[in-house]
Amino acid sequence: MASRITLAQLTKRRARFEAFLTERGAQILQPTNEWEVLRFKTSRGTSIVYRNARDGLTLTGESMTAWTAFETSGPWRASPAPKKRVSGREKTLPLVNALLRRDGSACFYCGKDTTEDDRSLEHLVPRAHGGPNHLSNLVLAHRKCNTDAGHLSVMEKIRRRLPPDHQGA
Ligand SMILES: [Zn+2]
Repeated sequence: MASRITLAQLTKRRARFEAFLTERGAQILQPTNEWEVLRFKTSRGTSIVYRNARDGLTLTGESMTAWTAFETSGPWRASPAPKKRVSGREKTLPLVNALLRRDGSACFYCGKDTTEDDRSLEHLVPRAHGGPNHLSNLVLAHRKCNTDAGHLSVMEKIRRRLPPDHQGA
């Protein structure tokens, strides 16, 4: 248990503890007097570790909770975890997978295989023109083929598509 920590223990692991605090959203502050060993701020307030005359420590605020979490890799955080940004790929993955099941992995335009890296969602009616982000309006195409067809109307897009006997690698 970390119910008591000594100045030596804290000093020895101080750099890692500070990194831990920062990583978990705390802000390390400058001590304001010689008895303060460590001062940090969380979204809930300021915590200070004091040193007493006999090199014992007094942990105030959240410093004991934080130290215990540090030692046990516990779940403490100084501030709410940053919202996980959903990447474009994560958002479109279910649609891509549905299209792969429906159409296979061939590019809508050139008929050649697309890979995870060069595959894109093509909106037949562009989103800018009110085309829905729905399977009925979507096909898979190479990024490049998608860009090349960007200015075309739906009819032109479908016409641009190579006839099946010209498709394939
Ligand atoms: Zn293509």
